[in-house]
Amino acid sequence: MKATSRFDVPSEPLFRPSLDVHSLSTSALHRLRLKLSEDGASQPICLPVVVARGATPGPVVGITSTVHGNEVNGIPTIHRLFRTFEPSELTGTVVAVPIVNVLGYDRFQREFHDGKDLNRAFPGNPEGVASQAFAYRFLNEVVRNFDYLIDLHTASFGRSNTLYVRADMTRPVTARLGRLLGPQIIVHNTGADGTLRGAAEDLGIHALTIEIGNPQRQQNRLITASRIGLREILEHLEMLAPDHETPQTQAVECQRSFWLFTDGGGFLEVFPALAAGVEKGQPIAQLSNEWGDVLRAYEAPEDGVVIGKSTNPVAHTGARILHLGIVGSVG
Ligand SMILES: [Zn+2]
Repeated sequence: MKATSRFDVPSEPLFRPSLDVHSLSTSALHRLRLKLSEDGASQPICLPVVVARGATPGPVVGITSTVHGNEVNGIPTIHRLFRTFEPSELTGTVVAVPIVNVLGYDRFQREFHDGKDLNRAFPGNPEGVASQAFAYRFLNEVVRNFDYLIDLHTASFGRSNTLYVRADMTRPVTARLGRLLGPQIIVHNTGADGTLRGAAEDLGIHALTIEIGNPQRQQNRLITASRIGLREILEHLEMLAPDHETPQTQAVECQRSFWLFTDGGGFLEVFPALAAGVEKGQPIAQLSNEWGDVLRAYEAPEDGVVIGKSTNPVAHTGARILHLGIVGSVG
């Protein structure tokens, strides 16, 4: 049976080759399609970009989502954030790219359409492979406009995450923004090589990453918390007047974190809940063979907090068990 549908799109978006936010009219919301590359049939690969230009000049805050194509909780987070204000109330500019990796998104896959991880391709290369060329253009045509960048992610396939922030907590501005977001956990982490966050920081942009739960899901509780945290940042930057909502969570801060891996293969059970504290020596997981015999039992190597964990019980040698954060602040 055919589902009923209703279309309610206010105006056709504009096609553009690049983004210059200062050329756009003020006190207005702009929907753009940026043509950054082309597919094998010479068709444009267009990026949806929403720009809220405020009434008065101010900072440019960029919010990007779905650099990994199957990490989609950031999309409704952006949509709902933009419903909380009118451009005429805004100082400065908010630029959002709800789906960066458009073709990966369409295939429910993390990677870019050349099979590479786009978040390891930055700052890109104009003469490189598809993901590098795209990263180069995205960084230079879009991200260069920003004073601040918040990049929205989730866990990868087979894992689940808390709502947590990855940020260089030795940078005072970045640290303040991370705390304003009100996540469950903040992990101090300098942007790894090839990430959008690291490339943005190299351009002098204050940048942080939010990990919002699990891949290929819409998780409303985490989306709402993220939307409230993003709005809190805009209020802190004096771009919007305070509203009645503030983040309810005081983040647990971690000075470092690492994944624990299996040293054999089998059926994996991981015991602690997300965000739970674990003590050194506490049983955290076990691996069974195909007959149900327990082959290995794993213990926490240090006191910590569970940032993320495996949800895929089928473990090869070297499978991820859990992402352990070591509590403590830096800077
Ligand atoms: Zn990601």
